Amino acid sequence: MGNNMVLEGKSVFGGIAIGRLAVYKKKDTQVKRIKITDTEAEIQRFASAKKTAKEQLSGLYEKALKEVGEVNAMIFEVHQMMLDDLDYNEAVSNMIQIQEVNAEFAVASASDNFSQMFAAMEDEYMRERAADIKDVSNRIIAILQGAIDGVTIGEEQVILLADDLAPSETVQLDKSKVLSFVTKYGSTNSHTAILARTMNIPALIGVDLKNTDEIDGKWGIVDGYQGALYVEPDEETLSKYEQMKREDEQKRHLLQELKGKENITLDGTKINLYANIGSVADVANVLKNDAGGIGLFRSEFLYLESKDYPTEEAQFSAYKTVAERMAGKKVIIRTLDIGADKQVDYFNMDKEENPAMGYRAIRICLDRKEIFKTQLRAIYRASYYGIISIMFPMIISVQEVKQIKEIIAEVKAELDREGLPYRDVEIGIMIETPAAVMISDLLAKEVDFFSIGTNDLTQYTLAIDRQNPKLEDIYDAHHEAVLRMLKLVVDNGHKEGCWVGICGELGADTTLTETFLRMGFDELSVTPSMVLKVREKIRGLDLSK
Ligand code: PEP
Ligand code: MG
Repeated sequence: MGNNMVLEGKSVFGGIAIGRLAVYKKKDTQVKRIKITDTEAEIQRFASAKKTAKEQLSGLYEKALKEVGEVNAMIFEVHQMMLDDLDYNEAVSNMIQIQEVNAEFAVASASDNFSQMFAAMEDEYMRERAADIKDVSNRIIAILQGAIDGVTIGEEQVILLADDLAPSETVQLDKSKVLSFVTKYGSTNSHTAILARTMNIPALIGVDLKNTDEIDGKWGIVDGYQGALYVEPDEETLSKYEQMKREDEQKRHLLQELKGKENITLDGTKINLYANIGSVADVANVLKNDAGGIGLFRSEFLYLESKDYPTEEAQFSAYKTVAERMAGKKVIIRTLDIGADKQVDYFNMDKEENPAMGYRAIRICLDRKEIFKTQLRAIYRASYYGIISIMFPMIISVQEVKQIKEIIAEVKAELDREGLPYRDVEIGIMIETPAAVMISDLLAKEVDFFSIGTNDLTQYTLAIDRQNPKLEDIYDAHHEAVLRMLKLVVDNGHKEGCWVGICGELGADTTLTETFLRMGFDELSVTPSMVLKVREKIRGLDLSK
């Protein structure tokens, strides 16, 4: 076929995307001091970057207002105000004019000076603003450098190309503008891949992206079935893919007929089919795809989206909104699971040799109890407004569960004293370490349910880093060791009356749906866009044969 430039990669979600290519540039690129001659033009550049920054911030404010409530959204207003600060503006313009330097350098210097000044202040509130000065200055620098950050993508939807995207970067993106993700690194179970599935858009990893400056802005096609990226496709290729895209849409349309139908096999075996979410905004997708509940709310994304610890009120409002929108359907909130690939700056965590096996998830929560209690209070308060369950990540011992229960008892006693209403919620744990699998008989006595996190369980069982692109080929999601573990957990859970589900990516693998049903799973929680496909699969199975 024609003279197409084709780059190959591994697909992490099928589908076809056709659109302009946009290269994501990391925000923390170094700022160089460059001598300029036209200082007026440089001041003008600064002014127009500031204007764009303000537009971005007001967009972020609106978005945060809807997703995480007013208290959390306020920070974006504060940032807009900082941009109008006279001293700051004067410092930048003077530096450009007097020292004849580029705007990026002037902003970076002003940022350093002002943030140091704030950091040295007596007042705690003012001291904390030092980080905001840096943040808002980095935004301007990114705009000056032409980096894409959220709404700077422009009005057009694009195919986003990047070396890699960390969860803290994807939360900033205006996702309605992204048609597809294409990354050089990343892996099948990285959170960018999970995000692509939630968004129901094709995504490729392991694409050898070179000379990105040359392809930036060109027209492209992502074939999420074959794992290919076409740059400047010829007419023939383009029309072939436009046709495929139309067919995809028709298939999607047919799946819609499964809405409202039961998840039942031909011989009458039923299973709950829930969906995974990372933010309040994802609930729309859950409802659109007719999931029976939310099987995993990755609550850490509230922390990733925030510039500082989300308050109890902000969290309460997010959980309550989800519970209310789900209108009587179950919502399983997983408590904070940060660390490893999900880093949050304001937690100020030390660099670790081996973060996947490090200070993360429940380990942080049991160590920094005040953070954990704030979240538990918010969840319990929200429980009054719907059907909420709580589950805990990365459990390795019965002792941890007992400690968690003690903290829950403290939280409930506090709420009782304060007269705040809550319900007694179901308590579950994630089974995502081999240790938890092996003692699942003991753990089952302590909880109401198990949800298996196959993403982490596979990485810890096979000793294969789920983030390492080099190991993609040997990462075998169907490894017999993992499948045997799944069966053991179901049996041990059922013996003690626990229900057992899967919330890792494997739950959506339709080549295993029959195996899961035969093992006796009670629930599968999958990315919203896969709910109807898994339902279709279930309805075609006959387990009596
Ligand atoms: C898992 O590990 O399978 C899981 C569902 O959690 P996460 O992907 O967020 O680590
Ligand atoms: Mg996990």
